[in-house]
Amino acid sequence: MKSEHPETPAPADASARRHVAPVLCYPVETLPSPDLDGYRAARDGWTKIAEVLVPARDASSFMVPAGHFFRIVSVDGPQVGDLNLWNADDTRERFFSGKTRALHGTHLSTGDRLWSNLPYLRPMATITQDTLDWYGFDEFGGAVHDVIGTRCDPYTNKLLDGGDYHYCCHSNLTRAFADASAIALHEAEPYVHDVLNVFMCTGFTRDTGQYFMKTTPVRPGDFLEFFAEINLLGALSACPGGDCGSKHSSDAAACQPLLVEIYRPEAPPKGWRSPTRNAYPGTHGR
Ligand SMILES: [Zn+2]
Repeated sequence: MKSEHPETPAPADASARRHVAPVLCYPVETLPSPDLDGYRAARDGWTKIAEVLVPARDASSFMVPAGHFFRIVSVDGPQVGDLNLWNADDTRERFFSGKTRALHGTHLSTGDRLWSNLPYLRPMATITQDTLDWYGFDEFGGAVHDVIGTRCDPYTNKLLDGGDYHYCCHSNLTRAFADASAIALHEAEPYVHDVLNVFMCTGFTRDTGQYFMKTTPVRPGDFLEFFAEINLLGALSACPGGDCGSKHSSDAAACQPLLVEIYRPEAPPKGWRSPTRNAYPGTHGR
């Protein structure tokens, strides 16, 4: 947080320094852009092969083979979800929220990719439809589907609130990953990572730059659709914050389930190939 009363006086050329135009850290023109028309054409005649209903204040896992689609669907009422993704064949490879944010921005929508961690750094999934894409950025700077929050967790709650709450998204995802991998909770916990906040409406306050949330605009029937670029293990937590209009990390908010639907196309998108892991040799100058 920046001080309202800085100790250091502004230099004479402060205005000139502030007026330097920004440049994008990561121009993405050189990234291969997804063939959205090709992906969408592959949906014709697809078959829904599985549904997973994620209970309120809990998480469930699901598998999506490479070349399949999945949707996260709002069913009963406004509810946000915290998504983790792993390479189903090697769960050391997982979603890299920070680099995804650096590449695509603070909030994701159609055409954006969910990238994996180093040293893999390849697209794990591509967003192929977003029924909330009309929302854009609101007057507060808020938008949906962020990669700026991390996930609600019992440790931060302990620091801020003092109590022990066991149904934060971090704990829900830990239980779901432990069950999916048949390992103990303490072994599973390090695999849980920063999330894609599905349907959550968030931003940074203009005056202090602090992370804020507001009631999600999602309604039953809305969905976020992904194409699996590699074999995926996913886990989705129906956040105890519910619509995230007031509180999280407690049982105070009204919460709803979320639905995950998995679809098998008749054939993979034309010309599509599952991406290989990043080509950097990992020699780091030695
Ligand atoms: Zn949460």
